Amino acid sequence: MSTDWLQRWPGLRRDEPLARHSQFGIGGPADMFLRLDELAVVAELVARCTESGVPLTILGAGSNALVLDGGVRGLALRLMTKDLAVADGVATFAAGTMLPRAALDLAAAGWTGMEWGIGVPGSCGASIWGNAGAFGGDVEGSLVECEVVAPDGTTRWIAGADCAFGYRDSRFKHDLSGHVVLHGRFTVVADDIATVRARTHAVQSERKRTQPYGVRSLGSTFKNPPGDFAGRLLEAAGLAGRSHGGARISPKHANFILNVDHASAADVLALVHCARDEVASRFDVVLEREIVLLGEPASDAVAAQTAP
Ligand SMILES: Cc1cc2nc3c(=O)[nH]c(=O)nc-3n(C[C@H](O)[C@H](O)[C@H](O)COP(=O)(O)OP(=O)(O)OC[C@H]3O[C@@H](n4cnc5c(N)ncnc54)[C@H](O)[C@@H]3O)c2cc1C
Repeated sequence: MSTDWLQRWPGLRRDEPLARHSQFGIGGPADMFLRLDELAVVAELVARCTESGVPLTILGAGSNALVLDGGVRGLALRLMTKDLAVADGVATFAAGTMLPRAALDLAAAGWTGMEWGIGVPGSCGASIWGNAGAFGGDVEGSLVECEVVAPDGTTRWIAGADCAFGYRDSRFKHDLSGHVVLHGRFTVVADDIATVRARTHAVQSERKRTQPYGVRSLGSTFKNPPGDFAGRLLEAAGLAGRSHGGARISPKHANFILNVDHASAADVLALVHCARDEVASRFDVVLEREIVLLGEPASDAVAAQTAP
């Protein structure tokens, strides 16, 4: 693997602790790390990584991805571009645009359709990747199309209807894995500013009432199983408030794991593992992780806990 070309890339950092770049505050070092404000160079960078065999990991805001303690091999790339523009009932977001910012800006300008994004503290790129959603809205419901870069550096727009969205799922986790989302274009509809603002604030208030707020978490740890809620099962299993090292299952909402005191990824995975075992043995339901894992575990014992 030749990385000479990359070592000369402006702004490249080596052995960068990724805990610094994640809202969750956890994560081992990346061999190489870049923050890019300029989407125009992403295609070239992706193509050159592919040609030279450099593994590439895309980072968003770190509100859903747990970066493991062994860190990330190759290049970790964070797309920072945060543009948001609205024309003819379509809002175009760059990959780094944060959904709460987008929801607030759209509400302030009297555009409805993205109120649900107010409580999803992630980037537009990652939210398309994972079909984020809340309070009855989701990416699938309003994405017109998104621009992506393939591993060979070719760029194209894919219609929302062709993204095979499902519950926190999309093609970008399957046949288009390795594609990087650059932009998303969402349908919005003109509405009264005060009404859109009121709806946005109602969503925000409901989240603050029912979920941990102002603490470090990755949102829902597990997907809801068919016909039930992961949080209800975890609470019924007596897991709310359970701790391991610096990580704790939220006493307020048992599907949230918090980084309360310099937790490691191993602490979080130990709780994930224990919670899943407990729910399976009590209710015969196998919970599927919603949080995603990036990088490498620091030990074989932790590797055994990284099942989907
Ligand atoms: C308090 C709290 C509440 C939350 N509530 C919700 C909720 O209601 N609904 C919901 O859906 N989620 C929720 N989440 C989870 C999270 O905010 C979303 O999943 C969000 O979309 C993740 O965005 P991110 O930028 O933080 O992604 P990250 O966690 O940084 O990354 C997630 C994945 O996306 C990939 N990725 C990142 N950027 C790109 C890109 N440009 N192209 C391709 N792949 C990319 C990464 O490689 C990684 O695999 C919540 C999280 C928290 C902390």
